[in-house]
Amino acid sequence: VRAVVFENFQTFPELKEVDRPTPGPGEVLLKVAGSGACHSDVSIYREFTAGAPGAQNPPFVLGHEVSGWVEELGQGVDGVQVGDAYLVYGPIGCGRCAACSRGQDTYCENVASMPYLATGIGRDGGMAEYVRVPVRNLVPLGDADPVAAAPLSDAGLTPYHAIKLALPNLAGGGKFALVIGLGGLGQVAVQILTALTGATVIATDTKPEAMERAAANGAVTVPGGEGQVEAIRAITGGRGVDAAFDFVGATPTIRTAQASMARQGRLTVVGIAGGTAEWSFFANPYEATITNTYWGTIEDLHEVVAMYRAGQITPQVQRYSLDQALDAYRDLEAGKVAGRAVVVP
Ligand code: NAD
Ligand code: ZN
Repeated sequence: VRAVVFENFQTFPELKEVDRPTPGPGEVLLKVAGSGACHSDVSIYREFTAGAPGAQNPPFVLGHEVSGWVEELGQGVDGVQVGDAYLVYGPIGCGRCAACSRGQDTYCENVASMPYLATGIGRDGGMAEYVRVPVRNLVPLGDADPVAAAPLSDAGLTPYHAIKLALPNLAGGGKFALVIGLGGLGQVAVQILTALTGATVIATDTKPEAMERAAANGAVTVPGGEGQVEAIRAITGGRGVDAAFDFVGATPTIRTAQASMARQGRLTVVGIAGGTAEWSFFANPYEATITNTYWGTIEDLHEVVAMYRAGQITPQVQRYSLDQALDAYRDLEAGKVAGRAVVVP
């Protein structure tokens, strides 16, 4: 069977023949329905080096945004039927610590002793015909379209988790949210903010098409460049935004988000472009918070799927066959993907 394999650090992945995986005890084999190409994969194969924070040693099959149909049950698995459609919760922690027991495998306390971080991050992922996953990581999709659901595993879950933690900042009338970077994650963030809050969503990207899409989803858009912070503040009547989400994470975008914040605002940096922030007492709006985030909980993912099934989240998907999977990554790197590239084997 074919799979997209990350072979070596700082090396573009390869499409190659691999053995068909066998589900172990407590696992199922999924026939992959869709596998999203996340920008984090680009960091994994372009930037990460051995031993760097978050880096997992190759080789492994990429793909941490996966949906599929149950093909085979491993030993001791019951309660799932062959043919049923599931979305995969990617993170895999020890399953025993306090974080894992609240469904937050991302912050597993025993991560240092785990051989991998997630399906598609250290362990073979879903850019393949088949993937094996622990039954504990399955979120049922019912009769919802599994292909368009694939991005929800990360492009849905990560913004959802970040937004949920910022809901206190957006509660009440007349609130403003800022979304920077309207790609796979950012477009879904606009939809989630619209569905969960009454806030005015201000959105920006370097690509005009991405801003048009966000506007169609209810956002007010502001182009980048000179005067951008003033334009954002003007929309808020000068007060600034109550919650900002930076899906780029470069120094200039963090700076823009920071300068756009209201007092007691909250900035969540989601993008991993490696930017840095400056902080000083009088330059910081009073009681404004800057934080980061990593993926989300399996409980969050159940909620994201519920929103998808209710029609509140509709990821924009650009389909690629498995033969074209490397083109999906080339297009992603070239900024040519609208929404999310999803490989459909
Ligand atoms: P993407 O490539 O689909 O989208 C990025 C968008 O940002 C594009 O539309 C691009 O035009 C825009 N952009 C780039 N530079 C910009 C700038 N200076 N100003 C405004 N817009 C700009 O990427 P994605 O898959 O949505 O991922 C976004 C980021 O989030 C990546 O850094 C990714 O690695 C990271 N990520 C983080 C987590 C987490 O858990 N923290 C999870 C998934 C992805
Ligand atoms: Zn990701």
